[in-house]
Amino acid sequence: MIRKLLRKVFRRNADKPQAAARAEPAVIPLIQHGITRARILPGAGKVCDTLQAAGFKAYVVGGAVRDLIAGIEPKDYDVATSATPEQVRELFRRSRIIGRRFRIVHVMMGGETLEVSTFRAAHDPAGETDEHGRVLRDNVFGSQLEDAARRDFTVNALYYDPSSETVIDYHHGVADLKQKTLRMIGDPAQRYREDPVRMLRAVRLGAKLGLTIEPAARAPIREMASLLENVPAARLFDEMLKLLLSGHAVECLTQLREEGLHHGLLPLLDVILEQPLGQRFVWLSLEKTDARVREDKPVSPGFLFATLLWHEVLGAWDRRKAAGEIAQTALFAAMDEVLDAQADKLAITRRIAGDIKDIWALQPRFAQRTGKRPLRVIEQPRFRAGYDFLRLRAESGEIEAEEADWWERFANGGHDEREAMLVPEKGPAKKRRRRRRKPTDGAAPEAEAGPPADSDADDD
Ligand code: ATP
Ligand code: MG
Repeated sequence: MIRKLLRKVFRRNADKPQAAARAEPAVIPLIQHGITRARILPGAGKVCDTLQAAGFKAYVVGGAVRDLIAGIEPKDYDVATSATPEQVRELFRRSRIIGRRFRIVHVMMGGETLEVSTFRAAHDPAGETDEHGRVLRDNVFGSQLEDAARRDFTVNALYYDPSSETVIDYHHGVADLKQKTLRMIGDPAQRYREDPVRMLRAVRLGAKLGLTIEPAARAPIREMASLLENVPAARLFDEMLKLLLSGHAVECLTQLREEGLHHGLLPLLDVILEQPLGQRFVWLSLEKTDARVREDKPVSPGFLFATLLWHEVLGAWDRRKAAGEIAQTALFAAMDEVLDAQADKLAITRRIAGDIKDIWALQPRFAQRTGKRPLRVIEQPRFRAGYDFLRLRAESGEIEAEEADWWERFANGGHDEREAMLVPEKGPAKKRRRRRRKPTDGAAPEAEAGPPADSDADDD
């Protein structure tokens, strides 16, 4: 009976080419959406209660409502309210106003931080945009109806009221979710122009929720993809990170490639995807990352980006060695070259760039097993990540599996076993290392002090 009713309600909306905003939203009861108050984060319920008791409207909104209806545990909770940031701030002792332009409030509840934002109006068409139509300001307060209309997809414009356990739905979002459709609110081309990141969000949310991007929202992506070039690099990095750590990276990147969206994101990703060796490596890494995310295991962004860019480093390194540069110097120069090439488009944070370089810098040292060097390598703080990277290189066919096996045995071995595995160093090499040389301009003196890619000088 309920099923029948549901089917009737949803079928009615299925044929709508584009969801029109309803002035009077549908108020969907618990029996249809299934989110009891007990299922939401307790802090989110409390924040809504406090705001409502003070006479304001307050709802859990966006991704959390969407995910709960879809049966996925939400990553974070957002609350939308009619209260201004100052009014929110006054109601919660442990809160602070964040951001100069958007001005949202972070409310600390128990161990959680909730993002509380005031209903915002869709941007004014005569308002501030860049020359491509990207909206630069989006901070005008508005009604709940306007707040719903400025959200990107219908499934993201749902408001959950914990006190009545109802969902307020202005754009047929619940029906779209049940029908597995990702539908843009308003004209898709216009919405992408306002904010090109919505193209990436479409691909990511489609993959995460198993939704099909409706044809009208999918069609403009190919020709509008280049608009991503105007998005600030830091925002693009955040969004790429979300995408790569979504647990559906393989699907997302496959689709990005189909939509022609990978151009300009990671400027060198095109090249990587064309290389037979590189492609296998990148794909293997993404599959493993997806598996870890889905098993709720931690993943390191540094490791991931290190894998995505490794074959670029190899290429640049080879070029430099062929031009006569010393191996060790050439490697560090190649690492900088590759990271710099990304920096324009993708603001990889300094901490992550440091992690990436640590992992790369360990790789040639794995090839050096003479003398006491292996003992110093396993003492490196990033040894584990470096070893995992080495293992991936072996699995992709770049190096012999024997090399990774050797390091695994060495790392797991006791003192005697390790000693037995060490390969004695030949005499002359030691002598050469002791010879003093004058440092030459331009090259790091320590890089010249030993045999190529073999230096212990970067140990500590
Ligand atoms: P997830 O948290 O799973 O990454 P999300 O949809 O919750 O997905 P958030 O960045 O947390 O993404 O955004 C919260 C809500 O804000 C969205 O559900 C949507 O309603 C709105 N929103 C976010 N980004 C945009 C955007 N670029 N354009 C319009 N609305 C947006
Ligand atoms: Mg969210």
